[in-house]
Amino acid sequence: MKIAVCVKAVPDAAAGRRIDPATNRIDRSVELAISDFDTYAVEEALKLKEAAGGDGEVVVISMGPEKAMDALRKALAMGADRAVLVTDSALEGADLLGTARALAGAIEQESADLVLFGQQSADGGGACLWSAVAERLRQPVISQVSELTNEGGSVTGKRQTEFGYDTIRAPLPAVIAVSDSINTPRYPSLKGIMGAKKKPQDTLSAADVGGAAAAGTTVTALSPPPARGEARKIEDDGSAADQIVEFLAEKRLV
Ligand SMILES: Cc1cc2nc3c(=O)[nH]c(=O)nc-3n(C[C@H](O)[C@H](O)[C@H](O)COP(=O)(O)OP(=O)(O)OC[C@H]3O[C@@H](n4cnc5c(N)ncnc54)[C@H](O)[C@@H]3O)c2cc1C
Repeated sequence: MKIAVCVKAVPDAAAGRRIDPATNRIDRSVELAISDFDTYAVEEALKLKEAAGGDGEVVVISMGPEKAMDALRKALAMGADRAVLVTDSALEGADLLGTARALAGAIEQESADLVLFGQQSADGGGACLWSAVAERLRQPVISQVSELTNEGGSVTGKRQTEFGYDTIRAPLPAVIAVSDSINTPRYPSLKGIMGAKKKPQDTLSAADVGGAAAAGTTVTALSPPPARGEARKIEDDGSAADQIVEFLAEKRLV
């Protein structure tokens, strides 16, 4: 089975995340790292390949600046076979539709049996790109999957919801967004890290993926969330519970 895993390179948490006041978008000029949520999707793909006795291929696909390839190497070090990065100045600042078009174009070229996503990116956090990509591919999608079973021609996902679980079966090819409770991503071994550099790492332009473009939306303004109302910080010196009850009573909440 050929599995494509979409991973996003996001500003490294250690570098801090800030909004670029010139564009009103996240500043991505800092060092990039693979979005943590996407390591669960890479792990699940590797587990499916291992369960098939090592048959098949795991390809990681991303859209981002050229330096995003450095972040993709973590997925290669974990065990993915190949990386494909869609990178082009025409795609700079791509919004949801632009990103979905570019990724769907790259995935179509791979003819993958299964496409895996993380549940959300660690920077944008929209938790919706997988549905836009599935729509463009005209493939079924199951999101928030905490357990995935491959039956050959179909997959079954146990989907976490607010009130319990849905169990959904979809014919292949299908798009699955995994939740961060599905597995424990492995750490790359030293051998994996050394080997990652030699694995195929291809780049595609916007033209290569069907002329995807950044699309026409602009962030015209940003408004900070409203300031918090009155807040009191309570340090627990043994009387925290009493202080909380007193505070709630003052507010007539108990
Ligand atoms: C005007 C405008 C400009 C924007 N400019 C940028 C920009 O310059 N850079 C930018 O990153 N975003 C930009 N965005 C946001 C852009 O829409 C989102 O990054 C993109 O749609 C993905 O959404 P998300 O980050 O919320 O991902 P989510 O929907 O939260 O991601 C879900 C999953 O999709 C996959 N995924 C997400 N992004 C990628 C990716 N790029 N490559 C591969 N897999 C991915 C991952 O598996 C992830 O776990 C812009 C938005 C607007 C409106």
